[in-house]
Amino acid sequence: MNALNKAAQGNAAPLTFRSLGGWVERPGDLQPTLQGQAQADVIVVGAGFAGLSTALELRALGADVIVLEQEFAGFGASGRNAGYLLGSMGIEYDMFVKRVGMEQATQFVRFYDEAVPYVEGRFKTLAIDCDYNPSGVLRACVHPSQEKRLLQSMALGRKLGAVSRFVDGVEMRARGIPPAFLFAAEQCGGTLNPGKYVAGLRRAAIEAGVKLYERTPLQSFSEGPVITCKTAQGSASAPVMVLATNAYTPQLGVLRNKVAAIRVSAIETQPLSTQQLADLGWQGREGIITPHYTMESHRLTAHGTMVLTVKKLGYVYGSNTPNIPDHTAYAALAQVLRERYPALQGLGVKHCWSGYVSGAYDFLPVIGTMGATQNIYYTTGCSGHGLGTQSLIGKLFAEQINGKAPELLAALQHKTPSMLPEPLQWCVIHSGFAAAKLLDDWTDRKVRKSNANKG
Ligand SMILES: Cc1cc2nc3c(=O)[nH]c(=O)nc-3n(C[C@H](O)[C@H](O)[C@H](O)COP(=O)(O)OP(=O)(O)OC[C@H]3O[C@@H](n4cnc5c(N)ncnc54)[C@H](O)[C@@H]3O)c2cc1C
Repeated sequence: MNALNKAAQGNAAPLTFRSLGGWVERPGDLQPTLQGQAQADVIVVGAGFAGLSTALELRALGADVIVLEQEFAGFGASGRNAGYLLGSMGIEYDMFVKRVGMEQATQFVRFYDEAVPYVEGRFKTLAIDCDYNPSGVLRACVHPSQEKRLLQSMALGRKLGAVSRFVDGVEMRARGIPPAFLFAAEQCGGTLNPGKYVAGLRRAAIEAGVKLYERTPLQSFSEGPVITCKTAQGSASAPVMVLATNAYTPQLGVLRNKVAAIRVSAIETQPLSTQQLADLGWQGREGIITPHYTMESHRLTAHGTMVLTVKKLGYVYGSNTPNIPDHTAYAALAQVLRERYPALQGLGVKHCWSGYVSGAYDFLPVIGTMGATQNIYYTTGCSGHGLGTQSLIGKLFAEQINGKAPELLAALQHKTPSMLPEPLQWCVIHSGFAAAKLLDDWTDRKVRKSNANKG
């Protein structure tokens, strides 16, 4: 029995790999491919949260904006993620501090935390209904041995300006959080349908007059006071370009030594029955992540399914991003589903998908300018937590391009460590994944043992 079929045990319907992820379809109103020559004030490459937010914010300042997207808006991670709008709690504070010290780490925490109200505000301003549930997000432990790390992280986060609250076991049970999750740190934010969010940004951008070209991959670009972007059937020129291509950036031949493309996977269950939902409790439908070294994320959707993500990451030699299934990741997630929710035995997995995020060795965002005249902006290194920050960056970039120089953008500048050449990079990243798995397996074995002892 192969991994996919194993993962599908208990499924009435066979498990399906969705190459576009679980939330989006190719839009019915695909925008035209770029043909001939076009000009604008700014060319944005990539139509995910970062590209669309930048285009919208620039358009609001009166700029003429062209967006070049290789497939369709939301094709990348923005259309495939778990839908957690979460501040700084999703990342490891101690890594920030080790790399840039307390003072600058405070600014990174600010970047992540300010992104939450910014995105919440955008839902209202742009009239985007994306099933947002401002439930807060819980970073919840599955074994008592995780408590020390959770509390240390909360304490350091507090010193850096992050607001979080400890939720003890009594409160977890009173709130109906599934019993696998013992206690937690809680931060504001919530969960949403990322497909609806990115489609809302796309619709708003088209309505605002952004010239969005879909099925238009950037092939090459020239540097200088005027940048010319070449595509298969045309070209576009502008004095400023924004590369919002995130995990796909190394394939453009830039920032290869700064970020790697990391594959993240997800499974979605069949809809829970009314009885299963009632038995589950979880009335607030809080998004849950775990403090494993390779985290798990667990959430209910507005359409009554559960989405689980991460648990096993992938790296393809050379930071390539093939749009193919990751069977072992889906099997690992299906096992998590069975183990964390014994009451839902038999709940089938409906489909699974994978997407790519980008990460630097120091896990910090990689944001800056490059090119002969420093007029090429880039934003990558989202480390799998970019729903908020990759949206907020659009506002900061637009202000900067408009001559305002936001101090938060300046505060994020730091030296990103250089990546190793292949095959060393492949070896280092896979060794890191293996070490994280060893530590997580150890925790999970303890959970199994203590569950077996309870009978
Ligand atoms: C399974 C999964 C779960 C996740 N869960 C969460 C979560 O719950 N919360 C959270 O905060 N983050 C999460 N993330 C991360 C989050 O989705 C990303 O950080 C965010 O979407 C990045 O947005 P972006 O616009 O920078 O990149 P993307 O959305 O990847 O957009 C880049 C775009 O560039 C386009 N492109 C690439 N190359 C070219 C080219 N040559 N020419 C033209 N266009 C090009 C791509 O097609 C793509 O549309 C998750 C990611 C994954 C994969």
